[in-house]
Amino acid sequence: MALPLIAFMSDIKAPENVQLPLFAGVDVGGTNIKVGLVDNDGQIVATTKFPTQQELGPQAAINQARSVLDQLIDESPFSWPDVEAAGLGTPGPMDISRGLILTPVNLPGWRNFPVRDALSIALDKPVTFANDAAAAAYGEFWVGAGRNHDSTVLITLGTGVGGGIIVNNQPIDGSHSHGSEVGHIVIDSTDAARMCGCGHKGHLEAYASASAIVARTQEVLTERRNSILTQLIGEASPLSALMVSEAAAGGDDLACQIVAETAIYLGRGITILAHVIDPSAFFLGGAVDFGGAETELGRHFLDLVCAEVKKNSFPVIADQLTIEFAQLGSEAGFVGAAGLGRIEHLKKIAQRS
Ligand SMILES: [Zn+2]
Repeated sequence: MALPLIAFMSDIKAPENVQLPLFAGVDVGGTNIKVGLVDNDGQIVATTKFPTQQELGPQAAINQARSVLDQLIDESPFSWPDVEAAGLGTPGPMDISRGLILTPVNLPGWRNFPVRDALSIALDKPVTFANDAAAAAYGEFWVGAGRNHDSTVLITLGTGVGGGIIVNNQPIDGSHSHGSEVGHIVIDSTDAARMCGCGHKGHLEAYASASAIVARTQEVLTERRNSILTQLIGEASPLSALMVSEAAAGGDDLACQIVAETAIYLGRGITILAHVIDPSAFFLGGAVDFGGAETELGRHFLDLVCAEVKKNSFPVIADQLTIEFAQLGSEAGFVGAAGLGRIEHLKKIAQRS
């Protein structure tokens, strides 16, 4: 079935110093699929996104990705032979070696689909397959906040808590494609530990995700009726992590307490990971950033996270570990996917020579 070409926010950049070859990146999400062309230095040459339309199934989305990339190339000064390889990031769980997306929570129609090979056939290019969070972590490592670091961890705080670990210029995928699941490390092993969305107790995601922040706030709101949040949820929409963040930025005591506790939970998680991996830097990405580096609340949140990590870490880690906000935002995924395609391409060249 031919699909209407629904692309928006097409953004073609043709920097004079584009370094060929190009690499295509595809970042599949439950709502949108972001695609782009990235040059050999990691500069974004062109990018767009289109709705996932998951009711039409994965093959339709793959075909759409090809159509959208055709359009981007047509509008750019480049052509398909300039594109050497592609990278693909999707939500897990997945089987990376077999190129399969297994049972994604947000993409029910995509179960057990051979997504890597389908994209490779559609683009007629080799495709490197990665967890979407690992792809984003690679994007930050390659050209984002981590570009001056040799090993990095990205923790994404959103509906869930995801992450990617980059060591030796590669994501840590693990033996079963379940490596880097930083949201599911245990930070509370008491009987009172919170239940995680995955069905186990005490995981970081059950404390620091957007939904966990909402749940924790709701539990204390019933006792603390003087919070601005009581008034806000009485007036309009259901409570959200953004409302908690905005209330904290406005000085609301309860919201400030929730933000501070979130920083402590996240700091505990980072402390565990720092002593296992000892990376050069951690970066915080995702929608839950409490305003990020540009705001007083965001910087305060980061300071609290750093203080919690320092308090519980070996001296070298306490003194030297960098913890900052990520920089690429929603572009990290397709840029990183393209970068992983580039790495595989470079390996093949090295093997041939
Ligand atoms: Zn979990």
